Amino acid sequence: MTVKTIALVAHDHKKQELLDWGQQHLEVLKQHTLVATGTTGGLIADKLGLEVHRFKSGPLGGDQQIGALIAEGKLDLLVFFWDPLNPAPHDPDVKALLRLCSVWNLPVACNVATADLLISSARFDDGQFQRQMPKH
Ligand code: PGA
Repeated sequence: MTVKTIALVAHDHKKQELLDWGQQHLEVLKQHTLVATGTTGGLIADKLGLEVHRFKSGPLGGDQQIGALIAEGKLDLLVFFWDPLNPAPHDPDVKALLRLCSVWNLPVACNVATADLLISSARFDDGQFQRQMPKH
């Protein structure tokens, strides 16, 4: 097992879904370094008892802080339950974050099914998996 850095972000209508998912994968999540946007991180700490580094709230720049981690090659997985049914004031930041996931070939889960598959993948923590990243 190698310790990974996992970012957790959920829009307001998706926060409960993320908490339920986190509860289901608590034992795995405990073994990794967790970061999150502000409100999501607060809920994860309070409701799941997990240690998590909290960035700013998403609309105040938290998404961009997570984007910076990606650009620095310091993130291994993003679980990002964005809300497809409600407009977000920081929609450009949401788009920018998803764009960086593609640029940096970062595993990103935008729904529970994908998050389930990624977190339970043998490749996720076999120590062998190395993703291609842009040269810089
Ligand atoms: P929040 O931010 O965790 O501070 O609510 C999430 C987001 O809206 O990107």
